[in-house]
Parts: sequence; structure tokens; C-alpha cells
Amino acid sequence: HISITGVSKQYGHHKALNNVSLEIEPGTVTVILGPSGSGKSTLLRTINHLERVDHGFIQIDGEYIGYRLEGNKLYELKEKEILKQRINVGYVFQNFNLFPHMTVLDNLIEAPIAHGKLDKQSAIAEALRLLELVGLSDKVNSWPRHLSGGQQQRIAIARALALKPKVMLFDEPTSALDPELVGEVLDVIKTLAKSGTTLVVVTHEIGFAREVADQIVFMVDGEIVEQGSAQQLLNHPSHPRTQQFLSKVL
Ligand code: ATP
Ligand code: MG
Repeated sequence: HISITGVSKQYGHHKALNNVSLEIEPGTVTVILGPSGSGKSTLLRTINHLERVDHGFIQIDGEYIGYRLEGNKLYELKEKEILKQRINVGYVFQNFNLFPHMTVLDNLIEAPIAHGKLDKQSAIAEALRLLELVGLSDKVNSWPRHLSGGQQQRIAIARALALKPKVMLFDEPTSALDPELVGEVLDVIKTLAKSGTTLVVVTHEIGFAREVADQIVFMVDGEIVEQGSAQQLLNHPSHPRTQQFLSKVL
């Protein structure tokens, strides 16, 4: 369970997040929509403490992200402990940042071995299972530069899954792809959704949101202005900004 409670984040005079609260139940898909600059990426980045929040806090299964509670005060964790927490949060960006000097297999086994999660043999077995899941078993020995954008992104998803995170965050995972490659990546994310992985997805793919989202959150100017089921938010948006946004993208 992820709890985001009263989170604010300011850059200079600009409020990127203003008192954002959101609950994410295990096994559900949350889609975040909103215009450019509304704080979607900033919100995702706070969930694994890539951004330090100014106010509020985030908990995953009761554990404070980036902090520990002592008495009634929160103290920021050391970098090493923050890195340990980040293992629980898989992160997939727009630009599939695979390690270019490593084969697909090495990309997949590097982190679980480095973090002491799996020995080499188990890491390889897990990598092969994940390659099958994303439909790329035949690319096990390929180099990232020999793969299409869609294939690289599917490998990036497999790599994030290799650490068995409690939640997977996706920040516009298909927006850098040629249109004909979008579907294969969305299909992998749909498979994860059906298998009960907890997902938080920033995307402009409304059809995808309609199909898989348990809840949709609509952000404007650093605030959640509306949230609800896909049916509610997409078919009967109540906030004028949501209506305006949807009229442009639908
Ligand atoms: P997009 O759809 O374009 O990706 P977004 O909803 O993800 O937009 P954010 O990237 O979260 O928006 O940015 C929210 C606001 O905070 C923007 O006005 C942005 O310019 C600002 N911002 C984000 N990161 C920083 C930073 N590191 N320093 C200063 N301002 C920032
Ligand atoms: Mg963004």
C-alpha cells in the first residue's frame, strides 16, 4: 500500500506539487493524467525520493520513504538506506536507459546480483523468465543498440521487474516511441496489470487508461483536481479543466 500524504514541492517560487494526497492499493493500476508542467513526473519522482519533498510524506507498506520516524520526528535516511528502499520501486522512463555496453542478459542480472538479491544462477533463471514475459527470449544475447525502441523499452521493464519491486512507476513509457511500437509496450504493461502488479502510470494513452486503470488522477498546476474510476473520470469528468483536457486528447 502506498500513501502519499499532503506532499508539497517547490522549485524557487514555483509550486510543482501543492498538498497532494493519494492512496494506492496493492495490485491496482493508477493512471496519472494532466497537462505538461502539472507535476506528474515530480510526483512519481517523490515516490522513490529522487525528489525530496518540502512538506508531507510518502509511505510504502507503512515505511517512510527517505525518512525514518524517531519519536514523532522524521529524519532523512543516509544515501545507502535510500538506495535500499529504491529496490522496492521499479522505475521506467520515457527513454529506456539500458546499459549500452552490456548485453540484454547482463542488463537484467546486474542489479539483482549487485544488491545481493539473487546469486548469478538464480538471476539468470529469473532473467530468462522475464524475457519470456516481455516476449523477447530470442534477444537474450543482443546488444541494446541492435534492438528497436519498443524492444529496448520492454527490456527496460524486465530490468525493473528483476528486483521484484512492490510498485512499478512508468513515466510516459511510450511517448518516445514510433507509433507502430507503442502497442507492444502497452501490451506488456497490460500483462503486468492483469497479473496484479501495482502500477502507477503517467501516460497520454487514454485508450490504455480506459482499459486498465482502477483509478485515474487528473493533475493541474501541482494539484490533483479530480480523481475517480476510468468510467467516472473519462466519461463524466466534473472539473472544467478535466473536460477541457479530455476534449483535446480524446
Ligand atoms: P510533462 O507532461 O511535460 O512531462 P509534468 O506534468 O511531468 O510535465 P513536471 O516535470 O513534474 O511536470 O514539472 C512540474 C513543474 O515543475 C514544471 O513547471 C517544471 O518546469 C518544474 N520543475 C520540474 N523539475 C524541476 C527542477 N528540477 N527545477 C526547477 N523546476 C522544475
Ligand atoms: Mg513529465
